[in-house]
Amino acid sequence: MSNAVTPPTEASRRLRAIGLRPTRARTQILQALLEMAHPVSHLEIQERILAQWGESMDRVTLYRGLDWLVQQGLAHRITADDRVWRFSAVSPERPAHPHFHCLRCGQVICLADSQIPQLEVPQNYLVQEVELVINGLCPHCQSRQKSE
Ligand SMILES: [Zn+2]
Ligand SMILES: [Zn+2]
Repeated sequence: MSNAVTPPTEASRRLRAIGLRPTRARTQILQALLEMAHPVSHLEIQERILAQWGESMDRVTLYRGLDWLVQQGLAHRITADDRVWRFSAVSPERPAHPHFHCLRCGQVICLADSQIPQLEVPQNYLVQEVELVINGLCPHCQSRQKSE
């Protein structure tokens, strides 16, 4: 099944639109990211691919594919203080944005309507990636805290 032709998806359309080759793995990973409303970990991506395509993706392929998508500007990477990397899709309609991380339950949500401010970097320093994470408590964890 792994050599089967990848059916056309939003992910393969996006890859082709910017002149990139939609390999099966890249398409599967990007499609998984596009379908998730919040940033997801490696494990969640693997589970999603398995559920959707009936195939398990090995870690090396997944890591390489994600790195490649980040380099191409199609995904961004978020680190919260639990040291788990999470990824989400980026597009012109959905540019890189800040995230909120709940310190208690660990969920990370996209603040898609907020922008990452332009920051000044010293001359001759090249910015490759900017991450902005707000740490705090989600509504659910705040109410749990009050009732304790
Ligand atoms: Zn929470
Ligand atoms: Zn996001």
